[in-house]
Amino acid sequence: MNTERYARQLVLPQIGKAGQQKLSEARVLIVGLGGLGCPAALYLAAAGVGTLGLVDNDMVQFSNLHRQILYGEADVGEAKVRVAAPRLHAINPAVKLETFGEKFSVENAIEIGKSFDVVLDCTDNFSARYAINAFCVEYQKPEVFASLYRFEGFLTVFDARLAAGCYRCLYPESSEAIQNCAEAGVIGVLPGIMGSLQALETVKILTGGGEILDRHCLVYDGLTQTLRKIARSRNPSCRVCGDGV
Ligand SMILES: [Zn+2]
Repeated sequence: MNTERYARQLVLPQIGKAGQQKLSEARVLIVGLGGLGCPAALYLAAAGVGTLGLVDNDMVQFSNLHRQILYGEADVGEAKVRVAAPRLHAINPAVKLETFGEKFSVENAIEIGKSFDVVLDCTDNFSARYAINAFCVEYQKPEVFASLYRFEGFLTVFDARLAAGCYRCLYPESSEAIQNCAEAGVIGVLPGIMGSLQALETVKILTGGGEILDRHCLVYDGLTQTLRKIARSRNPSCRVCGDGV
């Protein structure tokens, strides 16, 4: 291990050598390499997570560049996973990168996700979120979730091992009323904040430090600079993690 590289986190009592070793042995899957996935991947690579799985089937577009900070103008038209992997490797060559240039779905969830310890949901649509959630509940993987709406961010950790509720408990049905970034708009720095918070929760899950956001939601309002932490619980009638399942 390059101790100079990690010196500033090795001195933290919550990380130390043991925590750094855990990070280096960890396998983290990032689904979606957009506004959330870019900062999450950058910080997790820099922190020394052993293996990062990157899932995305999109190409870089000009309209991505104000918030998707792994990409530059020369990358427009290129596959995101193909641009992201060498960037992350350049930041930390010790990190192994496994790329999946496909959409995460119920069909490929097990094949892609089974060998990973933690899954980050950095997507922006209900079908991917439901597929990630169903997989993480079934295989008991902690899921670090964030979503965005204009100037507002939402963060939580679903951990099926705690029976503290899942994404379906919060959103039993997909809603036409909930718009994605393309429809509703988003300020570029917001996914930077929320994706970084996803990386932080992931580091805490892997190293065991601090309190995990696994029974609460964090709602961040960038317009008023306010943070609210709201308790969250399991819905007994949830079709994924409820009593009848
Ligand atoms: Zn549920």
